[in-house]
Amino acid sequence: MSRTADAIVCGAGIAGVACAWHLAARRRFGRVAIVDERPPLSLTSDKSTECYRNWWPGPGDAMVSLMNRSVDLLEELAESSENRFHLNRRGYLFATADPERVAAFEAAGREAESLGAGALRRHDGRGGGADYVPHRMDGYTDMPDGADLVVDGALIRRHFPWLAPEVVAVLHARRCGWLSAQQLGMHLLEEARRHGAFLVPGRVEEVLSAGGRVAGARVSLRDGGSERIAAPVFVNAAGPFAKEVAAWLGADLPVWFERHVKMSFADRERAVPRDTPLFIWADPIRLPWSADEREALAEDPEGRALLEPFPAGAHGRPDGGPDADTLILYWTYEEEKCEAPEYPFDWDPRYPEIVLRGMSRMLPSLERYFGHLPRPFVDGGYYVRTRENRPLVGPLPLEGSFVCAAFSGFGIMGSCAGGELLAAHVAGGALPPWADAFSLSRYNDPAYRTLLDDWPDDGQL
Ligand SMILES: Cc1cc2nc3c(=O)[nH]c(=O)nc-3n(C[C@H](O)[C@H](O)[C@H](O)COP(=O)(O)OP(=O)(O)OC[C@H]3O[C@@H](n4cnc5c(N)ncnc54)[C@H](O)[C@@H]3O)c2cc1C
Repeated sequence: MSRTADAIVCGAGIAGVACAWHLAARRRFGRVAIVDERPPLSLTSDKSTECYRNWWPGPGDAMVSLMNRSVDLLEELAESSENRFHLNRRGYLFATADPERVAAFEAAGREAESLGAGALRRHDGRGGGADYVPHRMDGYTDMPDGADLVVDGALIRRHFPWLAPEVVAVLHARRCGWLSAQQLGMHLLEEARRHGAFLVPGRVEEVLSAGGRVAGARVSLRDGGSERIAAPVFVNAAGPFAKEVAAWLGADLPVWFERHVKMSFADRERAVPRDTPLFIWADPIRLPWSADEREALAEDPEGRALLEPFPAGAHGRPDGGPDADTLILYWTYEEEKCEAPEYPFDWDPRYPEIVLRGMSRMLPSLERYFGHLPRPFVDGGYYVRTRENRPLVGPLPLEGSFVCAAFSGFGIMGSCAGGELLAAHVAGGALPPWADAFSLSRYNDPAYRTLLDDWPDDGQL
């Protein structure tokens, strides 16, 4: 069997469907074949916490620009679809109990402001808090951008009474929130299909070339048999398999893989209000244990580590509307780098207990679940990431081949702008100012490679 297309997109995760949407629906590039051996959005793109932010560190403003553009596109899509994917703008709320961290909050806010994320506003009690704009549970319009640094205890307690009483400051980043990634992905896919894209359920086994350029792909079909699709363009949006696919196209993608898992459970006792922002604890944590538990752990060689400090970054959010009870908690307290993705993978069986106890430092109301946490659901996937934690979008060595991958922990928020950039590379025309910052060719620049040696912490959650 053989077919022709104007472009082949390998991978129907959020990156692939965003590329297909831009090519087929926005660029009218023609017939786009989306090939995936799995059901759309089912490998990594349905495992995320579905959050977005324009709050990114430097050097340079490329990440903030990419994410601002992506959020623009998400807002346009929400507007045109009656917010089918439930975009909200509750913000990211970083909290600390350490007075010395306030300066770091302020510096992060100033840096984000200088990179284009919006102004930093400081609330220290002098204005009575009247100029602090609270978030809303739903909707994404008429909200401030930038961030609010609140060091006024009364204001913190008034708006966030559920936080631990030790909290001395919160940093509320505002062009941030969450959405339904599945609904967003299905919307992009349906729109792409309405404009001529078609799904091919199967695995790309080989990229075909002729005369030194892409000629198509050979696909083994999910229900048996194989197919040749002739096309002059091939887009590698293979997520955790992008490195493998790029090797066929003459490129060695400089990426590694990290396992990340999250948990959710039914908060039937309403320990956490349903209308919170994404909450993030910015301090290292010692897990709370009773005296008896401490004693037992100290005697257990495997348990002793649970008495040591854990890194900052535990976070979570409610999922669903006011009548739902799902609470998502997420904390990568142990970094696990791998050379290649492996499926299925296991996680620490103590994960739910550790995350619950860690998170209770920020939300003491969670203590009611100690020892009797409702059956949690744990899942996860791989972050595919570069050293700088920036994606790879642009041409690959074989003419007609492109990559749109390495979306690490930001593929849901970044794919709309990533797909747009990819489509600009494919279809031609003006590229945005941030294009070079995400192309594979950035690593050919010796000055850039030197910069990589001292690249600062990436701010990844
Ligand atoms: C625990 C966790 C939390 C996260 N939280 C967030 C968050 O809050 N916000 C955010 O923006 N991002 C988040 N992310 C990151 C986000 O989920 C990923 O960046 C994104 O899903 C990657 O999408 P993708 O399309 O590149 O990859 P995938 O979704 O993995 O899709 C790749 C597809 O390619 C297909 N494929 C591969 N090889 C072939 C082949 N040879 N032939 C055919 N098909 C092939 C696969 O079957 C797969 O369907 C999180 C991730 C995890 C794991």
